[in-house]
Amino acid sequence: MKLNTEGIVLSEQKLTGGKRLLTILTRKNGILRCFARDTKNSSAKYGAATSTFCYSNISVYEGKKSSNLDEAVSKVFFYNIMFDIEKLALAQYLAELAIQVIPEGAGDPEYLSLMLNSLHLLHNSKKHELIIKAVFELRLMSLSGFMPDIVGCRGCGLYEDDVVYFDTENSCIWCKSCVGNNSVLEVNKNVLNAVRTALLADPKKIFSFSLGQQDTYLLADLAEIYTLKITDRCFKTLDYYKKIKYSLNNKASEPENGYEKTEENNNTQENDDLT
Ligand SMILES: [Zn+2]
Repeated sequence: MKLNTEGIVLSEQKLTGGKRLLTILTRKNGILRCFARDTKNSSAKYGAATSTFCYSNISVYEGKKSSNLDEAVSKVFFYNIMFDIEKLALAQYLAELAIQVIPEGAGDPEYLSLMLNSLHLLHNSKKHELIIKAVFELRLMSLSGFMPDIVGCRGCGLYEDDVVYFDTENSCIWCKSCVGNNSVLEVNKNVLNAVRTALLADPKKIFSFSLGQQDTYLLADLAEIYTLKITDRCFKTLDYYKKIKYSLNNKASEPENGYEKTEENNNTQENDDLT
């Protein structure tokens, strides 16, 4: 059966016999794995269309045991990512997280929009990297069925306060009066609003907020801790991203937790929707 769709190549693995195994996030079929045969003419035939972080129209023959790429035509290649080691490291983490979480063969089309918009912002340096990362993580968890209850305090329903407490164990927020002995992250109003935007806004608006530097780090910590709790695993690409990030910032050692000691610009331009 021939499948015509569009998707973004998240990874490629070189195999023997001039073959590559591509892992592609498609619009309607979730994660798709297919083989691409590299021949003398294939580079001319595909161009960049089968390269990692290229968004392409693809045709795939789906067999009983495996799928094989027939055609690929590039739509957008996020080439800036390939020339910046920090952007590339972050994009590789987003890709690994997506491959881990998104099902094969089916999936919400918003998965692809989320990945495209995140890579687009990263490619164009239109948003602080840590905001891109945090929004991607939170929205991906939500799309995958792990939406935390952040509408109001779980105990009393209070909508907001100067400080609330995000509970990664119970996937909810608490107010000062109700928090008790739960293990929590303290969250101010700005960060809570950013979390609500990332989780609840229309897909085209999820990056449409701005935060100061300290709040950006708080959001990044919260999103990462929640994601690692939900996925219950380590990501080599995340470890590598952090290593690169701190070595580029000339830090002798990584802070014990989070992103607090890095220095970056906080670009607050809004999302240019790609899809
Ligand atoms: Zn309460």
